[in-house]
Amino acid sequence: MDRVYNFNAGPAAIPVEVLQKAQGELLNFNHTGMSVMELSHRSQAYDEVHNNAKSLLKELLNIPDSYDVLFLQGGASLQFAMIPMNFLNNENIAYYILSGAWSEKALSEAKKFGETNVLASSKESNYTHIPKQFEANSLQNAAYLHITSNNTIFGTQWHEFPSTNAPLIADMSSDILSRELNIEQFDLIYAGAQKNLGPSGVTVVIIKKDLIEKANKNVPTILSYQTHASKNSLYNTPPTFAIYMLSLVLEWVKEQGGVAEIERRNKQKAQILYNAIDESDGFYKGHAEKESRSFMNVTFTLPSDELTKAFVQEAKENRLIGLSGHRSVGGCRASIYNAVTIEACEKLAQFMKEFRKNIKS
Ligand code: PLP
Repeated sequence: MDRVYNFNAGPAAIPVEVLQKAQGELLNFNHTGMSVMELSHRSQAYDEVHNNAKSLLKELLNIPDSYDVLFLQGGASLQFAMIPMNFLNNENIAYYILSGAWSEKALSEAKKFGETNVLASSKESNYTHIPKQFEANSLQNAAYLHITSNNTIFGTQWHEFPSTNAPLIADMSSDILSRELNIEQFDLIYAGAQKNLGPSGVTVVIIKKDLIEKANKNVPTILSYQTHASKNSLYNTPPTFAIYMLSLVLEWVKEQGGVAEIERRNKQKAQILYNAIDESDGFYKGHAEKESRSFMNVTFTLPSDELTKAFVQEAKENRLIGLSGHRSVGGCRASIYNAVTIEACEKLAQFMKEFRKNIKS
């Protein structure tokens, strides 16, 4: 098969078994005589797909019945705005911990709706670590505390979540379903699907039912969590094909042994690449401080821009794709989401060793 090793940051790799299943069902889904994308979103056949995706996610992440799972559109970026629209008002304050460019974007949307407070930030170090020095247990008038669990651009990740008296909201776009979670630590989790969950087009929101009750009432209907929760995410036409693909990805995760097994593999994959960095005598330098290193996005620099360019080019010739770093960090980034195999990481580590050896000799 003519497939490459895909290290893109998002949209990203999808398990080949999932793509094959979708291919096999593309023209005639479950004896309906049509493709999933041709089904009415009010049909029973689609309803099964929709509810299967929802119940699989609940099962895999151990989501209690006190939470709702919503399938929305507009990407994680719409959540940046929907969250303050629904929960920020004249009487409370939205707290943000800044750990990267995506948290900054989330904050700037909240500023349009009310009072905000930056509880902690690692911006001054160009986001090389997750902020450590802050006190979140006695936040005054808190609407919520917002964090970004994994910083896709900088390659850092929260390994222990903050304890707080405020409702905790997390953007998990780039690490949802990559590790086991205690959902009850959070009041709202959101994620665009295009990294660990499937193709772009659907945004998953896991929200505590209590929080939905507290939402502002003067929000446009389509932007209100209450609307989507009360209509099982079928208030308007949902992204049916993306939700179908999500259901196949979730089935795949279950077949692999569930989130615990996926987490074990992800740690192994990350270790392979971080070892290649740490054993390179400083040729490759990790952007993230060690204790903040992400298991999803491995960011590193090379000694010069020319070498970086040559690295990315030669990697491509070796079918290792998507390794350019984001412009704000420079260097390289290997995104190793759930669908990226251990073998792909071994290939990349081997390539990193050989590239360095060839430069030295
Ligand atoms: N949040 C994080 C952590 C991301 O990595 C991204 C995209 O890469 C976004 C938000 C924006 O997501 P979307 O493009 O779905 O709006």
